[in-house]
Amino acid sequence: MASDAKGRSDQPGEPFSWRVAGREGDWLRVELRGEIDENADFSELRQTLRGNIELRLEGITRINSCGVREWVNFVRGLEGVRSLWFARCSPPVVLQLNTIYNFRGRARVSSFMAPYVCEACHTDEYKLLDVAEHFPDRRAHVPAFRCKKCGGVMVFDELPERYLSFLSEAELADPSGGG
Ligand SMILES: [Zn+2]
Repeated sequence: MASDAKGRSDQPGEPFSWRVAGREGDWLRVELRGEIDENADFSELRQTLRGNIELRLEGITRINSCGVREWVNFVRGLEGVRSLWFARCSPPVVLQLNTIYNFRGRARVSSFMAPYVCEACHTDEYKLLDVAEHFPDRRAHVPAFRCKKCGGVMVFDELPERYLSFLSEAELADPSGGG
């Protein structure tokens, strides 16, 4: 635990868990939470996932190097899954998407959380960015938001070309010959 970029608190992490959040037509939506580390067990989840899947990853708080390995094996082994999307990716997930080339497997990213800060009052918060809505051409032009507190302009609080580098791969990850 040398230098955690977001080491704001040292409270023990929430263990990995998941739950089915909804079903729409032939889509299954599953929410994942907690820390992905060597204790994260994907076996039951793997057996649950069939057809078209949206994994909601907003609740993933931390992923260590053992967890990355578990995760890559998990997404690689999803044989009954036709279409796989990652939605509401938390910042730790975005970091891995940007760093680990096969972290997404064949999944595509539909939306993710992005850090914003108000230029006037310095309020910071995470905003949900939708890939199709905010990045139709896959270019890293980040949207601005109004601050709810003071009405000022909230700007992207990271280097866009770094935080958004996974977007350029999203196109390449399009499963070819999938249908
Ligand atoms: Zn403000």
